[in-house]
Amino acid sequence: MNMVFKKFPAAALINGEWITSSKTFLVNDPATGGEVATVPDLGAMDATRAIDAAACALPAWSANTAKERAVILRRWFNLVTAETESLARLMTTEQGKPLAEARAEVAYSAAFIEWFGEEGKRAYGRTIPTTVASRRYLTIKQPIGPCAAITPWNFPIAMITRKVAPALAAGCTIVVKPAEETPLCALAIGKLGLDAGLPAGVLNIVTTKDAPSVGKVFCDDQRVRKLSFTGSTQVGKILYRQCVGTVKKLTLELGGNAPLLVFDDADLDQAVAGAMACKYRNAGQTCVSANRILVQSGIYDRFTRALVAAVKKLKVGPGLEAGVTIGPLITSDAIAKVEKLVDDAVKKGAMVLTGGRRDDAGPLFYQPSVLGGVTSDMEIVREEIFGPVAALLRFDTEADAIRLANGTPLGLAAYLFSQNLSRAWGVAEKLDAGMVGVNEAIFSSEVVPFGGVKESGIGREGAAEGLDEYLQIKYICLGAIE
Ligand code: NAP
Repeated sequence: MNMVFKKFPAAALINGEWITSSKTFLVNDPATGGEVATVPDLGAMDATRAIDAAACALPAWSANTAKERAVILRRWFNLVTAETESLARLMTTEQGKPLAEARAEVAYSAAFIEWFGEEGKRAYGRTIPTTVASRRYLTIKQPIGPCAAITPWNFPIAMITRKVAPALAAGCTIVVKPAEETPLCALAIGKLGLDAGLPAGVLNIVTTKDAPSVGKVFCDDQRVRKLSFTGSTQVGKILYRQCVGTVKKLTLELGGNAPLLVFDDADLDQAVAGAMACKYRNAGQTCVSANRILVQSGIYDRFTRALVAAVKKLKVGPGLEAGVTIGPLITSDAIAKVEKLVDDAVKKGAMVLTGGRRDDAGPLFYQPSVLGGVTSDMEIVREEIFGPVAALLRFDTEADAIRLANGTPLGLAAYLFSQNLSRAWGVAEKLDAGMVGVNEAIFSSEVVPFGGVKESGIGREGAAEGLDEYLQIKYICLGAIE
């Protein structure tokens, strides 16, 4: 079989078997353009086979106790942790992020496996005080059934374990379709799952270039009781519509347009460090990236100078190279979009304070950039930039900041920097966002509920809420009690 780094398969996983196909597609290294591997290009029939396997595996897997499932998940966590270095190198090779970030993603991804294995033991029901003397009321939580997941390329392992771990811990089985750009990380994590003892059919991975057909099968199949999707709002809406026919439970983790608010009373160093962390991580390709940096007039000049100085210290290059902090963007379309947004902003009066163009490191590298004087009429404040470009807007009053921040149909993350506790609390409550960082810009972990409001999605991942996404409630009434 085609193996990557002699360790991980480049074949799809259905019913515990590694599937090859005469039809394949290429995985490229975005830093060099080099070919990394070819993987099977499966289609609708294979997706149905994978659902068959998940449906077949469900009764035995869900009949295990949560404790028995946790033993396997713990072994899986240990294997992923032990393979941190090879998984991180694979991730940097197919996705491009700097190696240090890839290592951090492996740890973050593994944490979901460990935590949900334990949390599965706490899927408590309730007893409810009766209203009729001869009856007793109680609820139990049961696995919802076979599930499907569709994931993006920007966090190629974490976006999978954040869905698969709670699904399996809850007693569900699952079929995953990873992003076309990053199937190898998915297959590597699948192999470690099998090594840990996941029975055949419990976790299936369908690699494909034909996402619409495979996605349609997931939505249309009555046996799939839950679809969890992370990706763009545009595709999320398609899937939402397609799930109407089978009334499937949905988790949608969609796009963001995060505002980062810096008030006059912010600690300047904290605010700059926060903006750097959440803007330039993964070359700006995260759903919680600060898309609009709103800075109050009294601190605007000082903040801008300090941010530009920090951005000039970033090092662009291939993620495997020591000291690199900004890797390539994922595709030529992605870099073209960033260029288009910067051009539009500059045409409408924004100033390039640093960067503002492609980097010489290669065709997919964009210079870490800061644009000053950005205004609401520019496309860059409406669209997800998904690149290493900070867009700075000026505001005068707190009310202006809230109005600007909430002026988008999206509502995933928001950040604010202020040393005034009552202002920080009041503004945090008024922001239309599923998550707010106060004097903090990196806040996700397995123990907290991640997700958005408005068109950023439905449902939560991580925490007890993340387990509930894969459980359904059954109310049982015991009658004729004397
Ligand atoms: P995308 O184009 O929506 O793709 C995401 C996944 O959906 C990929 O696996 C893709 O397959 C698949 N897909 C595309 N069209 C489909 C269709 N018609 N039916 C079924 N599946 C389909 O998003 P992306 O550009 O890869 O990822 C970036 C987006 O994800 C951004 O908007 C970002 O904000 C969002 N995101 C959100 C979160 C969150 O938690 N809220 C986290 C990370 C990313 P192919 O790869 O084969 O096209």
